[in-house]
Amino acid sequence: MSNQCHDGDLHRHLCALKEIDFELAYLAALTQEGLKPLSRWEKSLTDDDLKLLQRTGLPTRQVRRTVKTGKEIVETIFSRMPAYIQLYEQTFGNTPIDKSARTQRFEGFFFGYPPCCVNQYIRKPYAPNNLTEQEQKILFHWACRDCKVTPSLLQAYKDAHDLLEHC
Ligand SMILES: [Zn+2]
Repeated sequence: MSNQCHDGDLHRHLCALKEIDFELAYLAALTQEGLKPLSRWEKSLTDDDLKLLQRTGLPTRQVRRTVKTGKEIVETIFSRMPAYIQLYEQTFGNTPIDKSARTQRFEGFFFGYPPCCVNQYIRKPYAPNNLTEQEQKILFHWACRDCKVTPSLLQAYKDAHDLLEHC
């Protein structure tokens, strides 16, 4: 399948994905836009769901991880850039899920989080910031106080969010 969708097709496929889950469609839209180098879906997907996700033109990969109890889980990652998919698999494939600072820095890099916000989150999660509740809600990272990067990202996130709300 072609990696390049016509805009109308892409919107149609994103809207179909929204029927499964709004957040999954939103992540796919942000990843297609390039706002997120890579996204991760931690809930399970049926084969049909996965096909729908791939129809947005995004290459996907399923990565095995373990949780503390030793139980195996499967994450679905997607990115327009094969190098990011490879790097994610090399970094996290078959590893236990953890919340270390190293992991959070890698995740920030993959998911397009500003490093200032990642650093603040590692020091103290959910420290007060200047965003409205509505602004913070459409982001996947917690913005640091007086963030210089997040305000520039917000409009693009809002646009992607609005487009999906009007499917
Ligand atoms: Zn920041």
